[in-house]
Amino acid sequence: MTRDQNKGINLANSENNAGVNPTVAHGDDSCSAEGKAATESFEALYEAERRARAEATARANELEAIFEAMADAVFFYDRQGHLLRTNAAARELLGLDQSPGYHSLPPDERLVHFLPRDARGRPLPEQQWPIHRILSGEGLTGANAMDMMVRLPDGRELEFSVSGAPLRGTKGNITGGVVITRDVTERRRLERMAQGFAREAVARASQLEATIEAMADGVFIYDAEGRLFQANKAARELLALDIQLDFHSRPVRERASQTLVRDEQGQFLPKEQWPLHRILRGEILEGTNAVDVMLRALDGREVLLGTSGAPVRDAEGHIAGGVLIMRDVTERRHLEQRTHDSLDALLAIAEDLVWIPSEASSAEDPLPDTLTAMSIVARRLADLTCSVLGCRRVSISIVEPGTELVRAVAVVGFTPEQELQWWAEQKQQESSLRDSPSQELISILRSHEVLILDMSQPPYNEQPNNYGVRVALVAPMVVGGQLVGLLSLDHGGLEHTYTQEEIALAKAVAKLAGLVIERERLLYERAEARANELALRESHQRMDEFLSMASHELRTPLTTIKGNVQLSKRQLKKLAGKITKPEELNSQIGAIEGLLDRADHQVSFLTRLVSDLLDVSRIQANMLELHIESEPSDLVAIVRMAVQDQRRALPKRTLHLQAPSEMIVPVIVDPERIGQVVTNYLTNALKYSPADKPVEISVRVEENQARVSVRDEGPGLSLEEQEHIWDQFYRVPGVEVQSGSSVGLGLGLHICRTIIERHHGRVGVQSAPGKGATFWFVLPLAGDA
Ligand code: ADP
Repeated sequence: MTRDQNKGINLANSENNAGVNPTVAHGDDSCSAEGKAATESFEALYEAERRARAEATARANELEAIFEAMADAVFFYDRQGHLLRTNAAARELLGLDQSPGYHSLPPDERLVHFLPRDARGRPLPEQQWPIHRILSGEGLTGANAMDMMVRLPDGRELEFSVSGAPLRGTKGNITGGVVITRDVTERRRLERMAQGFAREAVARASQLEATIEAMADGVFIYDAEGRLFQANKAARELLALDIQLDFHSRPVRERASQTLVRDEQGQFLPKEQWPLHRILRGEILEGTNAVDVMLRALDGREVLLGTSGAPVRDAEGHIAGGVLIMRDVTERRHLEQRTHDSLDALLAIAEDLVWIPSEASSAEDPLPDTLTAMSIVARRLADLTCSVLGCRRVSISIVEPGTELVRAVAVVGFTPEQELQWWAEQKQQESSLRDSPSQELISILRSHEVLILDMSQPPYNEQPNNYGVRVALVAPMVVGGQLVGLLSLDHGGLEHTYTQEEIALAKAVAKLAGLVIERERLLYERAEARANELALRESHQRMDEFLSMASHELRTPLTTIKGNVQLSKRQLKKLAGKITKPEELNSQIGAIEGLLDRADHQVSFLTRLVSDLLDVSRIQANMLELHIESEPSDLVAIVRMAVQDQRRALPKRTLHLQAPSEMIVPVIVDPERIGQVVTNYLTNALKYSPADKPVEISVRVEENQARVSVRDEGPGLSLEEQEHIWDQFYRVPGVEVQSGSSVGLGLGLHICRTIIERHHGRVGVQSAPGKGATFWFVLPLAGDA
């Protein structure tokens, strides 16, 4: 409320009416014409005063109405601070209508109820209370208005903006005061909220700013026209933007012509495919949509940048700019490439491992000596190792089994001159692991661990370092717990710290290399064994050829002789029948017949020897042919025929055949060869037993097989002899032929066993010295095979 208003309100009170009253007092003196005139003028004066009074009352009423209608609470106080009047807003605000005694409370008790505090909530000392300040002459208007907090009887906490002024009398003395209170609780709350928001927004913005600046990825922020208006530290470093301060302000096209936007393969990208253009067209570059671009930094470096980004839209959704986030993937690509190369190389080593030279090439190629063969493989391994481990030099030595002599077999990474020198040194230094002075290092290698040798430290720095090696790594090549070689590598003069991964990789490569080298050695050994075997087989073959040739050569004349002998015998018989001969001639013819019989017998014997030799040579050459019939043959018939042959040849001997008479015993066989086996058993039984002893032959069916046995009462065989009689050329020492045919070559039983086994049967003998012998064989029954 202004000072004028205060005046107006004062008018409504009666104090200043004194100025008008004197004229009223003067009016009592008039009585003549003069007096009349005077009376008239008094009336006029009364009238004027009445009007003035009416006007003043009307003004006062107006002001009273305004006072009551005011939204701010208004409090009038007298000089002592007693509350004189309040308007409706004040009464309502403080709930004064509900506490009628409030007005009459002493001044210092009134406000205490409301816990007056300053704007920050601290208790307000009494002399600071608005009414005290006003009564002491202070005006609380404009900037001087004060904020305070109060608690209402109903518990509400309110904030007031309090203004006011002292009321003064005509002499300027303070007659009281007016206090106007406005409830600003809500406004202050909103103001505080707004301030909070503003503070938060600022904090957020600076946080964001700091975050973007601190991001490891390069962040580029553009406006809708593609102007670069912010690039964080990482972004500036990525493209070395700080060396050209006006780069930001250059137009897109100019910037692009400096950075040469290319794809991963280095091909120039058309403008519409530049990441910036894509995001400004509304595309989001992330996930599979992210792209790799190659850029030239302002310092000339070529960098491959993994790029993602998105447009930035305003409140209406229009594109207002865009953000690109770029990460240097050059190193990662190199690593990927390295990993790729390493895997390829490891794969190649693994392939080497499983690759086995074809039989043909190994059989035809002349054998290189072991070291040459290994050097070729080792050199390839060394090359592969170089690419797996990305090192400068790799050498491979083998540890010879037995002697443990260490022999260099390959080195890569030297100049040709260095390599020559290195090989010469290696030849000189060749020694056994056992003689090495550094046994503790060797035991580390033997325990499958790698050695890392710092050549700049003793004792290595005391030796000449011809190749400028800084740090060398030696990995053991171990196969089946045996140290078979050493793989050494270095990075030349470069300081290189071997990571755990590299050490593990070196061990793995050495392990694989060990396997390859060992395999190579075994292949070589096998090839050597094969070569020997080949030579052996060749000599066998020559032997076979000779035997078979010899058999044929012998057989042909034998056949002729036998034919002639038999012809002579028949002719002699015919002749003897035609002529009547004197006694002497008779005995001569008888003698000739005897000679021819013996010759016939000898020829038969020779023929059998030749057949045996021929059979054995065929067996050895794996060329014994069987003519197995598709229809089953009757085993009893085969045996019976062989028995009858022997009965015919040796009519004086007793042969008993026991065989099922009413059924056949079906076997799928070459009947002639089975007959040969039976005959062999029979001739042996007859040969090695006394002439007066019988030979028992039996044919039996047992479950799914047929058994043929030939029992004699000859000398019998010890267990040891039984083991050997089936070997070729074996004859039991001291066993004499007791009757019948002549001694053999020790081939018959060997041929028998081969024939029976080729028929999927088995042979055997049951015997004891002095107890005779039973030779047997079994064959699968037809249909049961
Ligand atoms: P051979 O033609 O010498 O008889 P075999 O291979 O048929 O050759 O027999 C090998 C050797 O087994 C014979 O030399 C003989 O010492 C012994 N042998 C074979 N059959 C009998 C038998 N029934 N009784 C005793 N010894 C035998």
